[in-house]
Amino acid sequence: MAFRRGDKVWVEDREEAWVEGEVLDFRDKLVLVQTASGKKLSTTREKLMHRDPDADHGGVEDMTKLTYLNEPGVLYNLSRRYAHNEIYTYTGSILIAVNPFTKLPHLYNAHMMEQYKGVRLGELSPHVFAVADASYRAMMTEAQSQSILVSGESGAGKTETTKLIMQYLTYVGGRLTGDDRTVEQQVLESNPLLEAFGNARTIRNDNSSRFGKFVEIQFDASGRISGAAIRTYLLERSRVVKIADRERNYHCFYQLCASGEDANNYKLGHPSNFHYLNQSNTYDLDGINSTAEYLRTRRAMDVVGISSSDQEAIFRILAAILHLGNIEFSPGQEHDSSIIKDEKSKYHLLETANLFRCNPNLLLGTLCTRSIQTNEGIIVKTLDCEAAAASRDALAKTVYARLFDWLVENINKSVGQDKNSKIQIGVLDIYGFECFEHNSFEQFCINFANEKLQQHFNEHVFKMEQEEYSTEEINWSYIEFIDNQDILDLIEKKPIGIVSLLNEACMFPKSTHETFSTKLFQSFRGHPRLEKAKFSETDFTLSHYAGRVSYQTEAFLEKNRDYVVIEHRNLLSSSQCTFISALFPRLQDDSRSSYKFSSVASRFKQQLQALMETLNSTEPHYIRCVKPNAWSRPQKFENQSVLHQLRCGGVLEAVRISLAGYPTRRTYSEFVDRFGLLITELIDGSYDEKTLSEKILQKLNLTNFQLGKSKVFLRAGQIAVLDSRRAEA
Ligand code: ATP
Ligand code: MG
Repeated sequence: MAFRRGDKVWVEDREEAWVEGEVLDFRDKLVLVQTASGKKLSTTREKLMHRDPDADHGGVEDMTKLTYLNEPGVLYNLSRRYAHNEIYTYTGSILIAVNPFTKLPHLYNAHMMEQYKGVRLGELSPHVFAVADASYRAMMTEAQSQSILVSGESGAGKTETTKLIMQYLTYVGGRLTGDDRTVEQQVLESNPLLEAFGNARTIRNDNSSRFGKFVEIQFDASGRISGAAIRTYLLERSRVVKIADRERNYHCFYQLCASGEDANNYKLGHPSNFHYLNQSNTYDLDGINSTAEYLRTRRAMDVVGISSSDQEAIFRILAAILHLGNIEFSPGQEHDSSIIKDEKSKYHLLETANLFRCNPNLLLGTLCTRSIQTNEGIIVKTLDCEAAAASRDALAKTVYARLFDWLVENINKSVGQDKNSKIQIGVLDIYGFECFEHNSFEQFCINFANEKLQQHFNEHVFKMEQEEYSTEEINWSYIEFIDNQDILDLIEKKPIGIVSLLNEACMFPKSTHETFSTKLFQSFRGHPRLEKAKFSETDFTLSHYAGRVSYQTEAFLEKNRDYVVIEHRNLLSSSQCTFISALFPRLQDDSRSSYKFSSVASRFKQQLQALMETLNSTEPHYIRCVKPNAWSRPQKFENQSVLHQLRCGGVLEAVRISLAGYPTRRTYSEFVDRFGLLITELIDGSYDEKTLSEKILQKLNLTNFQLGKSKVFLRAGQIAVLDSRRAEA
């Protein structure tokens, strides 16, 4: 890059990422720079970027309008806007939303929704409502389904954004009846319900979604909401029985404990009485009243159409899970056997059996023994204390996961599916890329999903643009981007990919995580995306599009196995409570089949495949949520972390392509149809449409457009000029 003395620049900085500076002088290959704080330093040209000295301190609404569209420029623009509580900014058609961590009610009231209704994207200030409206309009005018993909790291604001989108869509597509059981009301109330059962406090977010969600809102031909379908992905089951310091279990447990009469009926007291809740010393959340939340969950259940007897069963099951967790074991007389530990455990055993409406002896047997199929028939094996506790935890997880699935199925049934609907808007709220100190199977699945979504984004933003430019034979300098097909192959290709190798390991009884890792390293020796991790023989490191992540394989095999232990199923299907027995119907065929291995990773892979197929049949809209700081505090903007998030979300690449490319394109006949009235004097049949299009653009003194084989390609902003001249004509 060329610099001259006196140039205003950005200087790379370890702490702040970029700081303002000015070029003073040159020495050999070094540049002498003075930073805004008065410090003088010499640096290389690579560490400098041009800075616009006249940049508007309020920032610009669309980054593609920045004079210098570089990394520091983008960052500075976002931070300036954030300082004024302008949390939304466009990058072409991508919306970036920086979490304000404070309530901004003026941004989201009915007046705002009305303002954005029917207004072209970009005409008003950037807003999530504008994106929702653009999807709705596109769906109506093009009769094509749309999808809105919301991504970002934990706490970035995905779920809040999703709710605002749903609020807007129910506003424009709702029926104005006073009834609170309308489809749209049910769609909205599904949120607090799923949050009660699927969200929990983590160290990153007090209300962290522990599952992925795709909500498809169906519309009839007149644009009214006529149905909805919710798909969920990978609920974090382990949280039901194990929580880390400062985190919490799912909200619904604390709500039930604070419910007063119901809690008394189920012999619940303060959450600290229960092992599944007291492993972490955190019980209350800032600004949240669990009693009020309990009532809210109940109300949501009413709206969604869950009968009061089903509601009773649901909370009784939650109470049973809490009592179950308090059952402890001590060694039995026989070698490797266990018995109930003490009177206290016995009390909880009886309480659990009572709430599950099953026989306490059967419950005890279920926890302390396991039948094994051998060549000689079934033999019953006793479990030692550790194994009995593991069996108890497995039972709790199984019941909770099944309950969550029931809720989703029930919401879908109750809201209803419109089989005739041809137009839908899908909203995706799914965990962003994760890279922690310890990464296990869950992070592997989450990052796999993000690779898939990134590919979708790549394909959409990059490949489609480039392909169109090439087929239209227009002049186009190709922009490089990172293609991630190779890592997807590494993960999901059959017969040899990480998922296949993992399934294979899960099916051989003698496999361990060591044999799995060995096989993995053998199969992919020299693969550019996979390495053995530094300080371990069994950890592997993947080079994801967003960075390198090392995975600990210890629990991979166990976590990938998905089955309901046959004893657990038999216990629950024997319940006198029809709600519970229906959750676990007795299997028809031979009992051995329930031991058959079913793979969590394969199921997730199939779900992702189905999601991608759905997304591919829609027109996508992207919202990238950004978490400005790690403390969930307003008005604190950390450059390094934001930059990392912008890189992970592909925002920086999209910025480049947007500016370099031609975001608007129209066929010649579309173009002449729309703008022909600007040159009525020339439309007499003596010119073809391509020539007419060129004449229109020339008349408006527009330059830099491109004329392809069948279409005209316009630079960002040119269509706006055309539209305004057309409006005047
Ligand atoms: P996770 O991946 O953990 O589920 P998330 O991206 O869904 O995280 P949210 O739960 O949506 O994050 O947001 C975290 C918190 O940030 C919210 O509870 C809320 O306090 C705040 N927040 C997010 N978006 C907004 C907004 N638009 N206005 C005000 N506060 C917001
Ligand atoms: Mg969330």
